[in-house]
Amino acid sequence: MQRANPASFREAASRFVTGVTVLTALDEHGRVCGMTANSFVTVSLSPPTVLVAVMPGRMHRAISATGRYCVNVLPDHGRDLSRHFASQPNGGAAPDYDIVDGLPRLQGCIAWFACEVISHVDVSDHTLIIAEVSSCDHRDTTPLVFFSSRYHRGAGALVER
Ligand SMILES: Cc1cc2nc3c(=O)[nH]c(=O)nc-3n(C[C@H](O)[C@H](O)[C@H](O)COP(=O)(O)OP(=O)(O)OC[C@H]3O[C@@H](n4cnc5c(N)ncnc54)[C@H](O)[C@@H]3O)c2cc1C
Repeated sequence: MQRANPASFREAASRFVTGVTVLTALDEHGRVCGMTANSFVTVSLSPPTVLVAVMPGRMHRAISATGRYCVNVLPDHGRDLSRHFASQPNGGAAPDYDIVDGLPRLQGCIAWFACEVISHVDVSDHTLIIAEVSSCDHRDTTPLVFFSSRYHRGAGALVER
């Protein structure tokens, strides 16, 4: 099978607009870890099921060890948090968490999903981590948006309902 050139693939994929999330979890020693991720996908409504694609690293190990993670959707002013959790620390104040039902939750997010892992599938250099959502909530404010490898503010203009 012919394979797309990786640089072209990256450029084309960057034209698919996403929000930005931070995955949070406790590792096997009870330490909080977080990782920026835009591979968050809702899979099914009943039961509420989501997936994220995670590369090997600290977050992958934490989720594998505990079987739980929280998806925190960043607000429009969350660029520095996104950088912080993508190993590009901003030098600013440490992010604030609440620990709720044994899961770290980032303060100030526009939505969060507490997730219990039900399955995982290794695909090339990532693992698809599929989970049922045990609780979630949201508030109505504007999101941080990732498009063309850059951060943007807001939900865009409404075209039609
Ligand atoms: C907007 C945005 C969206 C992103 N979305 C995603 C996403 O959906 N999924 C995702 O996985 N990343 C995503 N990233 C990248 C991710 O946030 C960073 O790579 C982050 O530093 C990973 O944190 P960590 O603590 O898990 O990794 P660390 O433990 O700090 O490791 C850093 C990197 O080293 C490599 N690495 C470490 N250990 C191993 C190992 N055992 N074998 C092979 N490689 C290894 C991996 O590439 C890993 O990501 C995104 C980044 C940005 C800016």
